[in-house]
Amino acid sequence: MEYKAYLIKYAEIGLKGKNRHLFEDALVRQMHFALDPVGEFNIRKESGRVFAESEEAYDYEETVEALSHVFGISGICPIVVSEGKEMDEMARVLCDYVAEEYEGETFSFKVFCRRGDKSYPMTSMEVAAELGGRVLDAFPHLSVDVHEPEVSLTVEIREKVYIYSKEIPGPGGMPVGTNGNAMLLLSGGIDSPVAGYMIAKRGVKIDAVYFHAPPYTSERAKQKVIDLAKQVAVYAGPISLYVVNFTDIQMAIYQKCPKDELTIIMRRYMMYIAEYFAKKRGALALVTGESLGQVASQTIQSLYVTDDAATMPVFRPCIGMDKNEIIEISEKIGTFETSVLPYEDCCTIFVAKHPVTKPRLDVIKKSEKKLADVIDGLMEEALNSAEMIKIHAH
Ligand code: ATP
Ligand code: MG
Repeated sequence: MEYKAYLIKYAEIGLKGKNRHLFEDALVRQMHFALDPVGEFNIRKESGRVFAESEEAYDYEETVEALSHVFGISGICPIVVSEGKEMDEMARVLCDYVAEEYEGETFSFKVFCRRGDKSYPMTSMEVAAELGGRVLDAFPHLSVDVHEPEVSLTVEIREKVYIYSKEIPGPGGMPVGTNGNAMLLLSGGIDSPVAGYMIAKRGVKIDAVYFHAPPYTSERAKQKVIDLAKQVAVYAGPISLYVVNFTDIQMAIYQKCPKDELTIIMRRYMMYIAEYFAKKRGALALVTGESLGQVASQTIQSLYVTDDAATMPVFRPCIGMDKNEIIEISEKIGTFETSVLPYEDCCTIFVAKHPVTKPRLDVIKKSEKKLADVIDGLMEEALNSAEMIKIHAH
């Protein structure tokens, strides 16, 4: 069956006063990002619902797929619309809908009516009973079951009349843009795209920073991160990706600091730089893909020393997850295949054979003093030479 309209349900928990507007406006904006590649939709709010309508019927699967990436949506209902509210007109549209959507099927049903338009001359119960009778007359092979119907035919009388019986679950979460901004440290690995997805799901708008180390990391490694950012943008909306040339800073650390402290010191400089771009974008938190105990730099001691370099909160949504749980999400959101492409990463190139797993902050800070004469200049150079790439999902 072809559809030209969708009713979007969202969870209303905690939505009061001004928050409701912010939530709905963000939802509409994100729906536009998702639906623009599918076709031209008119998206509008109407008393606790959002509708997406189009002049022509676009591909159903494609439309539902696009909407299923919009956080904040709890249910997607393909609907048919009756312009007229008279009983005969509603009954005609409803029967056409049943004939087409359930052609050749036998089932029990119930008509369920909701009136947004309280001036309607019949009660919801009366409308439901009358329409139920009409459906039964038109399709005598069907049966009514008001307790456990196989199909609930829902008729919502609002500005117009909306008819539906199917609800495809949405992704849940909150619309991106309702919960501030954060800066994601996005590598080419499996974990950080998942971390970005998870934070975006809580309504946070994300931008990203990638530390590139040419010529040790190739253009292909950079392209891989751009591709990952595009995939995350399917859910998170447009992302500003800062590509920071990290080579000189890494080289300086490599030459001047103890080899076993290289990773941890490098991670601290990543934090300083990420925070600089975070402030530039009005972000109030950093996001990484770290998971406790996964590698040497992800012990509790290492995370403590890393966090000391940041003044903003650092969100690590993967912190308590096993690798296979993170992989499961990366497969679901479509980043896994890209993440496992075998391109070099700036961290793996300079990594020591036996990195410290329990760094001490005072020791690390002392080692960092060895960078004193060069680091300010190198940092300035890295910040000023960063490239910003605007990433769109499509
Ligand atoms: P990932 O799979 O996300 O790369 P990982 O398990 O490989 O994570 P690390 O390489 O230790 O772990 O990196 C930990 C986190 O630090 C990453 O999740 C990411 O947030 C950040 N990070 C690491 N390398 C980079 C990089 N080159 N650019 C930006 N962020 C990075
Ligand atoms: Mg990595």
